[in-house]
Amino acid sequence: MAEWADEYFYLSVESSYTQGVWETRPFQVAILNAMGNDDIVEVNWIKSARVGCTKCITIALAYFAEHRQRNVIMWQPTDSAAEDFMKQHAEPTIRDVPVLRKLAPWYGRKHRDNTLDYKRFTNSRQWFIRGGKSAKNYREKSTDASIYDELSSFDDDIEKEGPPTVIGDKRMEGSAYPKSIRGSTPKTKGECQISKAANEADEFFYRYLPCPHCDEYQVLEWGGEKAKHEIKWDSPETVLQAHYECKHTGCVIRQHELEGMDERGEWRSGSGMTTRDGLKFYCDGKPVDAPLSVAFHIWAAYSPWTTWGKIARDFLRAKGDPNKLKGWVNTTKGEAWEEEGERVEAHHLYMRREQYPAQVPQAAVVIVGFVDVQDDRLEASSWAFGGERGTESWLVEHQVFRGDPGRHELWNRLTQWRHSRYEHESGVMLPIAATGIDTGGHYTQMVYSLPSATRVSGYGPAKVQTSALHPWWVAPARATKAA
Ligand SMILES: [Zn+2]
Repeated sequence: MAEWADEYFYLSVESSYTQGVWETRPFQVAILNAMGNDDIVEVNWIKSARVGCTKCITIALAYFAEHRQRNVIMWQPTDSAAEDFMKQHAEPTIRDVPVLRKLAPWYGRKHRDNTLDYKRFTNSRQWFIRGGKSAKNYREKSTDASIYDELSSFDDDIEKEGPPTVIGDKRMEGSAYPKSIRGSTPKTKGECQISKAANEADEFFYRYLPCPHCDEYQVLEWGGEKAKHEIKWDSPETVLQAHYECKHTGCVIRQHELEGMDERGEWRSGSGMTTRDGLKFYCDGKPVDAPLSVAFHIWAAYSPWTTWGKIARDFLRAKGDPNKLKGWVNTTKGEAWEEEGERVEAHHLYMRREQYPAQVPQAAVVIVGFVDVQDDRLEASSWAFGGERGTESWLVEHQVFRGDPGRHELWNRLTQWRHSRYEHESGVMLPIAATGIDTGGHYTQMVYSLPSATRVSGYGPAKVQTSALHPWWVAPARATKAA
């Protein structure tokens, strides 16, 4: 798709600051190709503003209809957004991209194949561009590609029929090459649809660029005012000259060096998969099949259409006002906004539920038990840990053992529980790898006298003594999922 875009796509005057021939930027190559790659069913793109997402989605529309002979449905968050997209992006593309214009003899006049939410080309391929608010707009004819633009602005339940991506992707059930494309700036953490979709993808890719001075690859990050590295500036007066400081060696990287870095960039996922072009994928240097679903994250620091200085200036303008700062985090950093403060709205908590088809979700890698000792009972919980960069945890089980902690009978029941195994989504049965037990109550010596660890196939319930439960029970706020 990236090659097709470079050869045929054109930036229309209505839809961009600069009119002219399209040139795919290095960081866009893999994203476009993943959209066009028949082995990949789902492409999720979490992004900031100014990275060309709307253009790339317009390219996908044109490419599927003209080059791949496929039907496409695109949903926008609202009916008026759908109409705007048709007028500002879709129709000018038909006019300005000659291979598409050839298939549209009706261009510029009234015709049944040329309406504000529908186009039918002479190769019989169709575009439907619809608002995503009402369920009836998801009951269209079959399609090959479903595109959701600004997914995080959609309702999460479309008139009680389900999430937009679920009911929308049903339209492709008959297609030999189904493709679901979701692009969006994120919104509020925990209820953000694009973040959820991306976290559920098989591989979540971040973009690594080599430092032009020490050659170490790294993800560009914001860092912040107090951080040692990343985007740095000397004073508010000189913020527009901000530079980037290499995380590995502290090299000073200037804005003009970004382009050359991006040309040598590559995408790497948390599991160690890499790709440069969205066509060939590798693990440990060996070629592997393309994942069925992928996610990409890219933000303004990679963009050739802004500068690190402007990013920092916009931050300084926004930082005093939570609403402006939320806007900056969403549209410049391309990250979901974490609500501050103690208050937890029931609705927000409810929205953070996740469904998984086993006792322990795929992303979890280890289970740990924790036991609170009370005078009349033991309260035992097993927690699974893992997830994106190891920052997630899930409550797997909570058991209350009533009885007298001064007697061995109660502790024997606990020892049995420590041998529990839980079904992991992969089918593996996972044991409790280690158990922490509260020694701070009235039964310290009973805990100390527990038999030492019994091995269960390699690693088993080892005893971890803690004098205070507190640090064990409080997971970092961003890591906690509603159970
Ligand atoms: Zn460096």
